[in-house]
Amino acid sequence: MGAEESKKKETSLLGSAEALEVIEAARESKWERPSFALQLFHGRVAPSLIFPYAVQSEEDRRAGDAFLAELESFLKRNVDADAIDRTGEIPPEVIKGLARLGCFGMKIPKEYGGLGFSQVNYNRAISLIGSHCGSTAVWLSAHQSIGVPQPLKMFGTEEQKRKYLPRFANGAVSAFALTEPDVGSDPAKMSTTATPIDGGASYLINGEKLWCTNGPVAEVIVVMAQTPERAIGGKTRKQITAFIVERSMPGVSLVHRCDFMGLKGIQNGLLKFSDVKVPKENILWGPGRGLKLALMTLNTGRLTLPAGSIGGSKRCLQIAREWSLERKQWGGPIGQHEAVAAKLGWMAAHLFAMEGVTWLASAWADRGDLDIRIEAAMAKLFCTEAAWAIVDHTLQIRGGRGYETADSLKARGEAPLPVERMFRDARINLIIEGTSEIMRLFLAREALDPHIQRAFAVLLPKYSLPQRVKAAIKAGLFYAGWYPQQWIPALPIGAPAEIPPRLRRHWFFVRAQSRRLARTLFHQMMIYQQRLEKQQMVLFRIVDIGVDLFAMSAAISRASMLEREGESAGAPGSASSGRSQSAVELADLFCIYARGRVLRALCHPSSPEDRPAYQVAQNLLKGRYTWLESGICK
Ligand SMILES: Cc1cc2nc3c(=O)[nH]c(=O)nc-3n(C[C@H](O)[C@H](O)[C@H](O)COP(=O)(O)OP(=O)(O)OC[C@H]3O[C@@H](n4cnc5c(N)ncnc54)[C@H](O)[C@@H]3O)c2cc1C
Repeated sequence: MGAEESKKKETSLLGSAEALEVIEAARESKWERPSFALQLFHGRVAPSLIFPYAVQSEEDRRAGDAFLAELESFLKRNVDADAIDRTGEIPPEVIKGLARLGCFGMKIPKEYGGLGFSQVNYNRAISLIGSHCGSTAVWLSAHQSIGVPQPLKMFGTEEQKRKYLPRFANGAVSAFALTEPDVGSDPAKMSTTATPIDGGASYLINGEKLWCTNGPVAEVIVVMAQTPERAIGGKTRKQITAFIVERSMPGVSLVHRCDFMGLKGIQNGLLKFSDVKVPKENILWGPGRGLKLALMTLNTGRLTLPAGSIGGSKRCLQIAREWSLERKQWGGPIGQHEAVAAKLGWMAAHLFAMEGVTWLASAWADRGDLDIRIEAAMAKLFCTEAAWAIVDHTLQIRGGRGYETADSLKARGEAPLPVERMFRDARINLIIEGTSEIMRLFLAREALDPHIQRAFAVLLPKYSLPQRVKAAIKAGLFYAGWYPQQWIPALPIGAPAEIPPRLRRHWFFVRAQSRRLARTLFHQMMIYQQRLEKQQMVLFRIVDIGVDLFAMSAAISRASMLEREGESAGAPGSASSGRSQSAVELADLFCIYARGRVLRALCHPSSPEDRPAYQVAQNLLKGRYTWLESGICK
């Protein structure tokens, strides 16, 4: 086999070399505790990782409650979300007011003038803002979930922190510039360059960054750019470096403010960098570490999207509930008709699970000893997709009024419920900070990784024959023990004591199906071998099973916690006792939905339509069906 062919075989096993580097870059150090969700793909369900449900401390909750009360009153008094949508501007006094409240420094440590919030309190704030105005939530989130404060906090030098963090806490807006016109999901291929000058004392940045949220108004932007390649371990490596760039630096210009179907109030633009001179002191974390920095920033940064999705979904549920009672058609409230009731049930159960997943992952992010990349990616994927279904159901339940703008409803004397705006605002969440497809690819790669390390080394032509024989013996011994274990029935005994009786069967289901998932993943590897990486339809079904099993576990754990809280609060019929009982009902219904999806996918990891669908798509791309497009007016 020639070198070229060997290389091709190796990279087709594992994904392209650059794609692999991107995934490796997102990894952090060795964690003290493994990922609960990742283990689900390998037949392991670790109750000690998920019980009891992780919650914030009382002290942390109190600090958050006080802030949220102030924030809510500010939003009600000052933020007119429909006016922002109509005018495309968040008024400067709103921005100043939010800065005065401390919203620009929620995640900045107190010693640098910020509020020093935990991830949970920060996400609670974003959820509240997201329930009221999507544009305001995204403005603040782009500033501190991914904008300069976050990577600066994680990777900046003390000097950089002292210089910039107090400025941000006081209201200086920041942005994150990774995407370019030719690179979106695949940032490793970026073309913006940073060329060293003056013997490396400074760099000249040249290139364009697209869709930079806050870009048009930011004072400071973190910009990822290519610095000269370096030889590492005998190989020439592409270097991506992160720079703190002041918007006032000569050469930074706004080419265009972008306008979208929703989030009309955000300031988002195409930025151009022409010979922008940046001192080397503005490099974050060191040369060549920019891609890792960007991906590690996104690891936790993307938890804000599920939080915002929760806020929007709560508002939708409220609107749908009230309208389903108020609107009477065909002899009764529409909520009593089964088709509408089914939507309401789905919405409530999935919202409960969204909260289960998000608050758990947020609390784990605060602990700092857990690998939460997998849970954060699952939370992003699950919550943004569920939130999109929830806003869609809400629009359908509102009927024609769901499609009508709030302004138009108001003008003819009806309640200006903003479902039309919320629908437009929600769609982007499935695209930004990792599209749903990229989240699934990332999760698939992580799920496959232990097998790739173990089994596929046997096939890699880069190893010598004796090395491959040794790897084959090692892998054979491992799988001889591991594979039969995945067939041992998970007996319905030994559930954690705190799980309410009604939810125990679901916990046993998670345990049993996790083993079946492990077997299925292994079988697909055996069937497709090197080609598995390309079988996205199969891989994505496998990922979705893992996501549902994680969401079930989180929902069960949260309902168990809420039931205990209700029990200890005493008084039957009290608010907390009512909540604890209904939490169990919601978790139960969510688990019933998820079980159906999991079983369907496990029965058919590959589906009869997969190959014909791919073939038709390729034929379509070749122009075979252009006749289908006739009769349109372009
Ligand atoms: C409102 C808004 C705000 C944004 N804010 C920022 C910001 O602040 N900073 C920033 O840097 N960027 C920002 N972005 C960019 C955003 O992160 C990108 O849009 C996103 O990463 C996807 O890139 P793309 O749009 O170029 O899609 P592409 O990468 O071109 O993908 C197009 C489609 O192909 C799919 N796809 C791509 N590759 C694969 C694959 N290998 N397998 C299967 N499917 C695949 C994608 O999932 C998608 O459906 C913003 C975008 C918008 C619209």
